[in-house]
Amino acid sequence: MRIGIAGLGTVGSCVYAILKEKGDEIEKRSGRKCIVSKVITRTHSKYEKLGIPSDLIAEDFEDLIINSDIVVETIGGTGAARTLIKQSLDLNRTVVTANKMLISEFGNEFTNSSPTKSLFFEAAVGGGIPIISLLEDYLIFHGIKRVRGILNGTTNFILSEMLRGMDYAEALEIAQKKGYAEADPSNDVKGYDAAYKLSVLMGVKTGIFPGISNIETMGIEEINKRDLERAASSDKKVKLIGTIDFEKGSAFVKPQEVERNDPLWSVDGVENAVEVETDLSGRFILRGEGAGAQPTATAIISDILRASRYAEKQNNSVVIMKFGGTSVDTPEKIRDIAERVQKKVISGVKPVVVVSAMGIETDILHDLAREISSRPNGREMDMLLATGEQKSIALVAMAIQELGMKSISLSGNQARIKTDSNFSNARIVGIDADLISRHISNGYVPVVAGFQGSTYTGEITTLGRGGSDLTAVVLAKALGSQLCEIYKDVDGVYSADPRIVKDARPIKEISWEEMIELSKQGAQVLQSRASEFARKYDIKVLVKNAHTNARGTLIWRGSKVEQPIVRAVTSDQDIVKVVLQEVPDRPGIAARVLKTLTEQNVNIDMIIQSMRSGEFNTMAFTVQANDLAKLRQDILKARSEAREITIEREIAKISIVGVNLTATPAIAATLFETLANEGINIDMISASNSRISVVIDSKKVHLAVNAIHSAFNLEEIA
Ligand code: ADP
Ligand code: ASP
Ligand code: MG
Repeated sequence: MRIGIAGLGTVGSCVYAILKEKGDEIEKRSGRKCIVSKVITRTHSKYEKLGIPSDLIAEDFEDLIINSDIVVETIGGTGAARTLIKQSLDLNRTVVTANKMLISEFGNEFTNSSPTKSLFFEAAVGGGIPIISLLEDYLIFHGIKRVRGILNGTTNFILSEMLRGMDYAEALEIAQKKGYAEADPSNDVKGYDAAYKLSVLMGVKTGIFPGISNIETMGIEEINKRDLERAASSDKKVKLIGTIDFEKGSAFVKPQEVERNDPLWSVDGVENAVEVETDLSGRFILRGEGAGAQPTATAIISDILRASRYAEKQNNSVVIMKFGGTSVDTPEKIRDIAERVQKKVISGVKPVVVVSAMGIETDILHDLAREISSRPNGREMDMLLATGEQKSIALVAMAIQELGMKSISLSGNQARIKTDSNFSNARIVGIDADLISRHISNGYVPVVAGFQGSTYTGEITTLGRGGSDLTAVVLAKALGSQLCEIYKDVDGVYSADPRIVKDARPIKEISWEEMIELSKQGAQVLQSRASEFARKYDIKVLVKNAHTNARGTLIWRGSKVEQPIVRAVTSDQDIVKVVLQEVPDRPGIAARVLKTLTEQNVNIDMIIQSMRSGEFNTMAFTVQANDLAKLRQDILKARSEAREITIEREIAKISIVGVNLTATPAIAATLFETLANEGINIDMISASNSRISVVIDSKKVHLAVNAIHSAFNLEEIA
């Protein structure tokens, strides 16, 4: 398990220290490996003070969350901590916290957003006392009648000192000196702290956290020496006691006199104690250290271990690691990724590797086929193309084995990825993940061939260019894994193709919608079918560099953005323009043109009909260059009654992609003006809320993309 720690105060740094120093011992005793993968804190000087290696320091919450399986929140308060927990749960992480105020007041919000058990907070009540585990696990089938206890060490310390003859102010001062009370002690002495804990305990048992406004609360400020003496004269002590009466549905915190035979009588100093009364087994008493860095930190570590059991069951520790052709094109790079896989394994993650064919192998195989046949048979073509990935999976599995791990390569057919029989562009219709799961449980790293599957009759099929990305997200879904990592030769999804724009920047996070647009508009980073599948099934994708530790781009639901924002500029040169000259200006002609294209399976993108001259129109549309071969110009010419069809190849489509782009005309204006300033003519335009595209002369692509990138200041965004 990879553990991310947010907040390095006394508790957070103690958790860090224990995991670092006693990690091996904890693993030996519990059988669970826990490695701190990232930490974050507001006070940066802490990093140096605690000697935290720089690669463990997270850039921001997202960076921490993505790189951990379990997020430990020790920030405190209800501001940043609340954001962190929400975001972690949103990204399917398990969260461990000691934050009673947060759980008491916002616990409902968290548990509503996550159907499975993913929030652990043993340390929030009673420090080192395992009261929550007792209620949640051991007593799960008991009826709980009543819970009462001394839940606040500070007030118990003050009352204990007062009993020795001190007055309230003196006792408080000592508590502050010893670090048992804060400079502003109100939270403790007014009884709120104990009330938060009652609210948390009620939530554990009932599923709903009532919050402290529903708990009658009285503190100890009004208690004086005389009250204590009066109690002592009848052999009683005054204690601040929190009580939940589940039968009556009531809860309150108040100072009460307890008799000598009461188990709470002898609880002294900063100790805590809780008594649980059940229907089946009578009473349980838990007593121990209620607060302090060490007991709280150990409660957190217990939670981490408990959480890891849940996480394992949910396959949360399975991560898909997909490596593209550019990342496996040499033996050195293959060895490099085997090491990356090993690091994952060491941290307790169970990787499933997906690989593409080495380098431009698929292109080479295509060209080879064309040398034999101008229209190769679909079945044979896929038989040929699938060999590319078969080669790379074997080599990657060998490289992983070479490092002493168990690994097994699986073709698409062996991985039981079932497709329809639409050769070269097959659709995945099902996947039987049991076999891969079994390999995982037996300690193997499965290495699955991307881009391929097989039909129910055993024919080998491929999934369309870039299809390994699709294999990866489909496997993520089938294995219920929390994250699909796509490794590339670049640091993530950039604001523009880094080969064209020198200042292009990796984008930190982006929504699926935007990514789908980017892929469709020519950014090769992720296949658009893969993005669409990920959106449909809520799969989070992280695009990362295969050879560096750069943080990468997170593709997910995305943070809600209202204002228009331009994320990236893309170019697509693989398009051609088909122009129908002098089409008769009659109703029904355009429909006939589109019907003809549909019959021929030619997808069009932009379409334009120019101003009428006499009885004729000019119609033009763009198609993908690959689709041109499918276009039967003779038929189209006859149906459209065009005088002539011409094809323009020297064109390219430039698009800006983002959110709410049509909310204001200013964005389109900036785009057009930028092109005008560079003397670039716009041939066609189309716009939607998430993109504005223009068609220009293909010789001007470099100039246009760079100018647009800087006009929208994309080098400054992150
Ligand atoms: P892989 O072999 O890993 O699938 P691809 O060759 O499909 O990799 O795509 C990676 C290339 O895509 C990068 O080298 C990069 O130059 C290019 N690319 C184009 N647009 C973008 C973009 N917006 N962000 C990142 N990379 C891009
Ligand atoms: N090797 C295949 C291709 O080049 C699949 C992939 O790379 O994703 O299209
Ligand atoms: Mg690719």
